[in-house]
Amino acid sequence: MGRLVVVSNRVPTPTPGTPPAGGLAVALAGAMQERGGIWFGWSGRTLPATSAAQEEPEMVEQGRVTYALVDLTERDLNDYYAGFSNRMLWPLLHYRMDLADFTRVALAGYYRVNQLFARLLAPKVEPDDLIWVHDYHLIPMGGELRAKGLTNRLGFFLHIPFPPPDILTVLPNHADIVRGLAAYDVVGFQTPSDVENFETYIRREKVGHRLSDGRFVVHGRAIKVGAYPVGIETKAFTEAAEHAAKNPLVKRMKESLLGRQLIIGVDRLDYSKGIAERIQAYETFLTLDEEWRGRCTYLQVTPKSREDVPEYAAMEREVAELAGRVNGAHSDLDWTPIRYVNRTVGRNALAGLYRLARVGLVTPLRDGMNLVAKEYVAAQDPADPGVLLLSRFAGAAHELDIGALLTNPYDVDGTAGALARALEMPLDERVDRWRRMYDRISKFDVTDWRKAFIGALEEPERTTPKIAAV
Ligand code: ADP
Repeated sequence: MGRLVVVSNRVPTPTPGTPPAGGLAVALAGAMQERGGIWFGWSGRTLPATSAAQEEPEMVEQGRVTYALVDLTERDLNDYYAGFSNRMLWPLLHYRMDLADFTRVALAGYYRVNQLFARLLAPKVEPDDLIWVHDYHLIPMGGELRAKGLTNRLGFFLHIPFPPPDILTVLPNHADIVRGLAAYDVVGFQTPSDVENFETYIRREKVGHRLSDGRFVVHGRAIKVGAYPVGIETKAFTEAAEHAAKNPLVKRMKESLLGRQLIIGVDRLDYSKGIAERIQAYETFLTLDEEWRGRCTYLQVTPKSREDVPEYAAMEREVAELAGRVNGAHSDLDWTPIRYVNRTVGRNALAGLYRLARVGLVTPLRDGMNLVAKEYVAAQDPADPGVLLLSRFAGAAHELDIGALLTNPYDVDGTAGALARALEMPLDERVDRWRRMYDRISKFDVTDWRKAFIGALEEPERTTPKIAAV
């Protein structure tokens, strides 16, 4: 069995003795521990803009995993990461053509860093290693590695959406990006819709087609393309939620509610998450359903993110102003409708907060998957579960439509109505809906996801992904 080489923009820096944070990191590190491997990517450290590129990654060994860490110059980071990845690909792949900002300088930086990564990684790879590249920052990695003569099995997983061709073709170099995908043996998307969009693209642009055995031919290479919806560490999250009642933060939160129903939203501050539309929907709900005034509290926990990207600073102001205005207009002396908090909370406390909440508001305008939706479900008390109000535009809706109340976040009045329905839902319906969702996330967690993808990567002859049936 070959080793597993994982390539991602950011490598979770290994701290001896502490497990990596986050379900995904745990699942990937687990696979590398089992078979040996390398986790390659940016160290998180920045070199001055004038420095020369690094010639050798820093190699840190921990058990059977070697972390290969590359420092990037300020200029590279600016162009590749803040620029092309986060100001062009991120908005465009989230269907936000209006926010996409394309420059040749940023594009050049994107290819420069992908080439640097390939140059530093290639000498570390052994012939039977499996290589698994993650996410939109690194689409060209596969092609760059092939250019260095690597014939290894190469997989790519896109964590964010793959939009329809009319949107993707707004990207001036869309043809190169898709050619980059054709260098892999397996390309994984989050949902069947993303696969469909990819298929429509290659057909319309006349660069490929689907074979009768399910594989795709793209730019002359036969590759596997499938939906591999990412999961969470369901069991661990449920256990954390079961024990969280003792957590001081959760206790304080519960006491502060004074018996009011809790509605919770947990998202990075990002325009894809629909936070402003959600606050508007909550305000509409308070206006239409006056009997709920003073009887519910909406907690929105939102750490700031990507503060170096201008669009994020603008939306931070927008959301803060909106939350302030709604509170100013609707608060009473002893009741504040929205608690808007810009911070992160630890995983145990987070699990406890989800469990306290009668409604989980997960209403992104567009999301590849949305793990918060799955975490909310995992954290519920089976005897008295809350209701997941979920955007139909989250990848998670492909799996959780069996129990969530689905909503269109652009329809503020509709979301307000769904919120009232969620708060008033009888216990038996809540249990029934929750059980179906819980069943799904227990049967298919992050370890199953990782196994399904690696399985496809390992077996050249298998043509359909194990978990295509979502
Ligand atoms: P994205 O990857 O776009 O941020 P996801 O919903 O898929 O969206 O994943 C977000 C992850 O970050 C989840 O695991 C969630 O628990 C975590 N997270 C988001 N907000 C917070 C917060 N305020 N405190 C702690 N963890 C958070």
